[in-house]
Amino acid sequence: MKVKVLGCSGAELPGHRPTSFLLDGKLLFDTGSLTNVLDIKEQFKIKHIFITHSHLDHIMGIPFLAENLIFRKKKYSVNILSISYVVKAISKSLLDGSIWPDFTVIPNIHEGILNLIELRSGQPIKIDDYTITPYPVNHSVPATGYLVEDKRKRRFFYTGDTGPTGSTWVEIGERKIHCLIIDVSFPSGMEKIALETGHLTPRLLRKELLEIKPSPEKIFAIHIKPRYFKTVKSELQKLHIKGLRLLKDGQTIQI
Ligand SMILES: [Zn+2]
Ligand SMILES: [Zn+2]
Repeated sequence: MKVKVLGCSGAELPGHRPTSFLLDGKLLFDTGSLTNVLDIKEQFKIKHIFITHSHLDHIMGIPFLAENLIFRKKKYSVNILSISYVVKAISKSLLDGSIWPDFTVIPNIHEGILNLIELRSGQPIKIDDYTITPYPVNHSVPATGYLVEDKRKRRFFYTGDTGPTGSTWVEIGERKIHCLIIDVSFPSGMEKIALETGHLTPRLLRKELLEIKPSPEKIFAIHIKPRYFKTVKSELQKLHIKGLRLLKDGQTIQI
């Protein structure tokens, strides 16, 4: 599996794009960066978008993608998939027709450009050669991470935004996570605010990793707040954790 990092930052600033990961050019995880990164041909290849939670920095690409797709001559639709709370929030607050057209009923009520699909935690869905399973994580709103497995049984887990989330690792069980893409938003000195807002720090990450057995092969820290980037980077380096790296926008990960 090849995962292209469209964005992996915890905020938007020049040189820092919000989170979005494109698997093998066709499956997208979150949409913090989308139409500002992919050209129109690349946008047309996306058929399924998995959303971790309803915060704007993870859903904001959806309306702009829909607008680009509506002018495509061929009949076309994109599935937006997530847990019930997230699907309802997108429907009620993002695509309710008040701040942008409701592309779930455009071009007509029976065939919308966007289909909203509810997933159940712990229940896998198969798309092409991938098995994708949502597992709840611990954020300030209901949120899910995604375990993605290919036919060779290679796996990655993308947490989206999360604080300490021990039960997630219990649910995943002993399946090897070859690549863990995990929230480390704040420096360790801001642990209180991290816990209050449902995020991790380097110190909390270290604790979290002790709960994941077997240990992930590679660990990528994401969603760092740009203001604290240098501090978080140096704190992560000091942890000396095998396989732990920072991700950069535009990078491709091979799993
Ligand atoms: Zn969030
Ligand atoms: Zn976020």
